[in-house]
Amino acid sequence: MTVRPILIHPDPRLKKVCAPVGDISAELRKLADDMLQTMSEAPGIGRAAPQVGELKRLIVMDCVKDKDAAPQPMALFNPEVTWTSDEMNVYEEGCLSIPEQYADVDRPAEVEVRWLGIDGSEQSERFDGLWATCVQHEIDHLNGKLFIDHLTALKRQLITRKAVKRKRELQRAS
Ligand SMILES: [Zn+2]
Repeated sequence: MTVRPILIHPDPRLKKVCAPVGDISAELRKLADDMLQTMSEAPGIGRAAPQVGELKRLIVMDCVKDKDAAPQPMALFNPEVTWTSDEMNVYEEGCLSIPEQYADVDRPAEVEVRWLGIDGSEQSERFDGLWATCVQHEIDHLNGKLFIDHLTALKRQLITRKAVKRKRELQRAS
């Protein structure tokens, strides 16, 4: 397994719109596997490829938080939201690319998503609860959008200022 370090905000690569993938090559399957593996060994329930510097439309997630429950790892290539509920939900979100910063974000409570699976087959599913929040947060990454972009400008600037400071500290430590 290749450990792929996570990019920390602010980073221009986190603001890019990612390109759709064509055929699911062995290289892309390896990337998805690496992302799932690193996710299972670290905090966080989702990862988007741009967070590891790969500007491709790929996200992985596993929102099973209960340690006794069976894991449900998923890799979604070219994920697309095809339907959103009118009902909204608010969750306190965080992001590995914005360490130690959390904020309440409003999103549709349910979404339907279409994507290509790791075997190249077209799949579609309706997500709710934490899964709905996670899949929308990760798809946002593919469009160069972070959870702080859903907040007021004031809150976003506050968090970004803290992130810049934190990033400097992390860089000094490494
Ligand atoms: Zn994130």
